[in-house]
Amino acid sequence: MISKKIKDIMQSGSAIRAMFEEGKRLAEVYGKENVYDFSLGNPSVPAPKAVNEAIVKIAQNTDTLALHGYMLNSGFESVRKTIADSLNSKYGTRFAFKNIVMTVGAAGGLNVVLKSIINEGDEVIVFAPYFGEYNNYVANVGGKVVVVPPNPPTFQPDLKAMKSLVSGRTKAVIINSPNNPTGVIYGEDTLKELGKILKEQSEKKGEAIYLISDEPYRELVYGDYQVPFLTKYYDNTIVGYSYSKSLSLPGERIGYLAIPDEAEDCDNLLAACGVATRILGFVNAPSLQQLVIEQCIDEKTDVSAYDKNRKLLYNALTQYGFECIEPQGAFYLFVKCPIEESKFVAKAKEYNILIVGGKSFACEGYVRIAYCVSYDMIERSLPYFKKLAEDTVK
Ligand code: PLP
Repeated sequence: MISKKIKDIMQSGSAIRAMFEEGKRLAEVYGKENVYDFSLGNPSVPAPKAVNEAIVKIAQNTDTLALHGYMLNSGFESVRKTIADSLNSKYGTRFAFKNIVMTVGAAGGLNVVLKSIINEGDEVIVFAPYFGEYNNYVANVGGKVVVVPPNPPTFQPDLKAMKSLVSGRTKAVIINSPNNPTGVIYGEDTLKELGKILKEQSEKKGEAIYLISDEPYRELVYGDYQVPFLTKYYDNTIVGYSYSKSLSLPGERIGYLAIPDEAEDCDNLLAACGVATRILGFVNAPSLQQLVIEQCIDEKTDVSAYDKNRKLLYNALTQYGFECIEPQGAFYLFVKCPIEESKFVAKAKEYNILIVGGKSFACEGYVRIAYCVSYDMIERSLPYFKKLAEDTVK
C-alpha cells in the first residue's frame, strides 16, 4: 500500500504536468501542428553550442574516476570555485568554493535547503502567485506553507501583508524573481524593505529567518530590467540557482546553492546542505554536468528569442482585449481570465490551446501561458486566441 502522504499528492496532482500529458494526447489525435501547448516551462531555445561541445570533450578526455566516480556531496571544488569567482565578479560578493553547494537543479536545491533548516511545524512564507511545487517540498520536511495573498495588478510582494503573517514559527521566506508565473521582477526598493523587515523579525525571534531566493530565471530578463542580488540586502539569504532555463538544460538537473559567510550558522548550514544532498538520495549533483558548467560558466542563452515571443504574444493578446502585466523576465504571461478560470481553461482547450489555471499558483482567476515555445507555434495559435477572446471578453 502506498503512503497516505503520496496518495494525497497524487490525487491533488500537478495541473501543469496534466496539461502537458493532455498536449501529447491531443497531438496524436489532431496532429502536432494543430495543438498549441503553452503548459510547461520547457525551454525551446537550444542549449549553447559550447555546452554540447563540452559534454563531448569531457566525456572523451576525462579519467573514469575523475568523471564518473563518487565525490564530495557538495560537488567538485574546482567547479564551485569557478561559480564563486563568477558571482564575485558579477555582483561584488565574497564567495569562496565552500559557500557553494552543487545541486540537482533548483528543485534539488530547495529540497536540500528546506531539509537543512525546517523543524516539524516550522512555517515558510511564500508570495502568491508562486510555483506550486513549493507546497510539496515544504510538506516533505514537515513544514507549513503560509501564503501572502497576490497583489495585482503589479504582483510585487505585499510586504505589509507578509509582516502580519510572520510568527514565532517562521523559519524562512521564499521569493522567486523573475517570477514564475507572472514574469515580474521584484524591485530593488521592495527587496531592501523585505531585508529590513526580516532583520527586525529575526532579532525579535532571536534566530534567523532565512530568505530563500529561488532564481532559475535570473538571466532571463528583457530590456533594461535588473535583478538585484539579494545577499547585498539581507545577510541570511540563501540563493538557489539552476541552469535548467538559463542554459536550456532542465533534463540534465544541475544548479547550486550559494550561502554567504554572513548568514547565521553559515558553516553548519553548508555542512547540513552537504548531508541533506546525500540523505535525500541525490548523493551529489551529476558529475558530467558539473564539469560542463565549469567550462561554460560564461555561456548564455539567446534571450532575444524569448523576447520576440513575448512581444508577439503580449501585443496580440492585449489587442484582442485580454488583460495582463507585461513580463519583465522569465518566459510566462499571466493573463486575467475574462470568465471563471476553469471554464476559461476548458474553452481554450476547445481550440487546442493548452494553458494552466492560476489556481495551481495560488492565484485563482488567471492563467499562465508559457511562451518558451517556437515563434512559429505562437503565430499559428493567434487566430485561435482571437476566437477565444471573441467568445469570452466582453
Ligand atoms: N522554481 C521555479 C520558480 C520554477 O519555475 C522551476 C521550474 O520550472 C523550478 C524551481 C525547478 O527548476 P529545476 O528544473 O531547476 O529544478
